[in-house]
Formats: sequence, C-alpha cells, structure tokens
Amino acid sequence: HYDLAGKRVFVAGHRGMVGSAIVRRLEQDGVEAITAGRDRLDLRDSASTLAFLKDTKPDVVVVAAAKVGGILANDTYPADFLYENLMIEANLIHGSFESGAEKLLFLGSSCIYPKVSPQPIPEDALLTGPLEPTNEWYAIAKIAGIKLCQAYRKQHGADFISAMPSNLYGPNDYFDPEKSHVIPALLRRFHEAEQRGDAEVVCWGTGTPRREFLYVDDLADACVFLLRNYSGYDHINVGTGSDITIAELAETVKRVTGFSGDIRWDRTKPDGTMLKRMDTARLADLGWTASTSFEDGLTRAYRWYLDNPVRGG
Ligand code: GDP
Repeated sequence: HYDLAGKRVFVAGHRGMVGSAIVRRLEQDGVEAITAGRDRLDLRDSASTLAFLKDTKPDVVVVAAAKVGGILANDTYPADFLYENLMIEANLIHGSFESGAEKLLFLGSSCIYPKVSPQPIPEDALLTGPLEPTNEWYAIAKIAGIKLCQAYRKQHGADFISAMPSNLYGPNDYFDPEKSHVIPALLRRFHEAEQRGDAEVVCWGTGTPRREFLYVDDLADACVFLLRNYSGYDHINVGTGSDITIAELAETVKRVTGFSGDIRWDRTKPDGTMLKRMDTARLADLGWTASTSFEDGLTRAYRWYLDNPVRGG
C-alpha cells in the first residue's frame, strides 16, 4: 500500500477530461494536486518539462496529458498524434525519474491492442498483432509509454505503472462534431438537431461496432486506487466489462437528448475496430470495479454539456 497523504502529486493534463477528474478525486481525499497550465509549461518541450519537474519535485506524477481525438482526427493528423504524444510522455517519464518521483501513473487507451484480439481483450494481447489503422499513430505512442515505464522499472527500479482505460466520456470532454469521440459528437449533434427540429441525425459507419464506455469519474477512482495498491510491471486494463453497439449508443443518446426524428448511417465514414471490450479481471482481482451505470453517466455528461459553454466549436 502506498500512502498518498501529504504527498506532492503532479497531475499533467489537469484541464482535460481525465486530468480534471483525477484532480477532483484526489481532492475528495484531501490531496491537493500540483498543476501547470499550457501557457506556463509546454509538455512537448524537454528542457522546460525537466526544469519544471526538478523545480517542483513531485512525489507522484500522473500522466493524463495527451493529444486525443476521435477516429477521423487520428486519421487526419497522424504526425501530430504520434509526435506530440511521444514527446509528452517521454519528457514526463524521463523527467519524473530524473527529479526523483517515487511513483508515476501513465494513462493510455484500449486502442493499443491488435485489431484482432481475443475478446474480452486481456493485458497480454499487447504486441501480438497489427493495430487498427485508423488510430495506430496514437496507439504506437501509447505503447511506447507503457514500455518507457517498464524500462525505467527494469533499469532503475522506478515504481512507474500504466493503466489502459476503455472509451471514456464525461464532464470536460471535447464536444466537436468532427474531431471528437463518438459520445460527445452524438450528444451535441442530437441536441442541436432537437433544438432545430430536424427530421434526422446522421451517425458514422454502420452502427454495428461495439464499444465499452467508461465514465471518467470511475476512471479517476481507479487511478487513485492503482496509485495506492499497485506497483507491478504490467499495465492494467480499466473498464466496465460490458459493451454496447454504436447503434444502441445512438438510441440511448436520442432518448437522453429527447430527439424525436430518425437516425441515418453514413457508411462512407470508418467503423474502426469492430470489437474492443477489455478483460478487466486483473483490476477486479486487485479489488476495484466500476460503479456508474451507462444511463447515469450519459445523463450526467449531457447535463454537463448543457451547463457549460461548448468546448471545441
Ligand atoms: P474509436 O473507438 O477509436 O473508433 O473512437 P470513436 O469514438 O471516434 O468512434 C467509435 C465508433 O463510433 C466508430 O465506429 C465510429 O464510426 C462511430 N461513430 C458514429 N458516429 C460518430 C461520430 O459522429 N463521431 C465519431 N467520432 N464516431 C462516430
């Protein structure tokens, strides 16, 4: 057990959906996170990131900073997704080692797994086959991050761990109709269609791929749990253990937003991988399971969207 009381915890990416949820979760336990805004610290810059870490000397570092986006953004900006994520994580992981951090948590995503993986996907499916091409740039960067944590553990005994969440959603998500992930994109599209009284809403692909959605506050809870209770070499999957089709998601968004028209599928847009439910047995064995139901989480995410000026567009 690692005691977080009185520790200096640096959450990189605190303005994002994941980082902000982790800051909120730490505060619940009386731990005030150290943060640095984008204006103050460019995490892609090695010299300034190292200087910041040596200056602030955090005991714990959470790597929740990343360039993220949906299926189309990944496909359109491959250089940005690969380069920026490699730089951010290399600077933070190396810098944390250099500045003497006791513990580091690196966050990735379920897209690190091969396009064809056993279902549900166990942690050891990593690097057993080719990746899904629509997000391989992001995935390669995240795989490198896991390996960096393992390498610093192996060579230097650093207690650097990794967690791989399934598709996330919740407050502070990025609600751009084109560049965001499916949940914020659909919440916004259905909401605006309902407001205008449109007859139909267009969704991408065939509606048949299945996705596992995790509410971001559940992920934050799992992160704090892992910081306290896990210090192993292998990365850990974080998910709910259940998935739904994109068509079922669209129907749920339709109900939550009160849209009464039709749903049309644009089959010229990519489906991405068909299945990516994760095996969450390792985390369950450690003693953690998700607690927010999908309907509840989606309603909360929608309320957040209604209460906040639109982020991204
Ligand atoms: P992925 O899990 O990496 O594929 O991430 P996304 O959240 O971008 O997409 C999930 C699935 O939702 C894919 O099968 C998309 O084709 C589908 N989808 C349906 N409508 C939309 C939309 O408006 N935006 C996005 N991003 N995906 C959509």
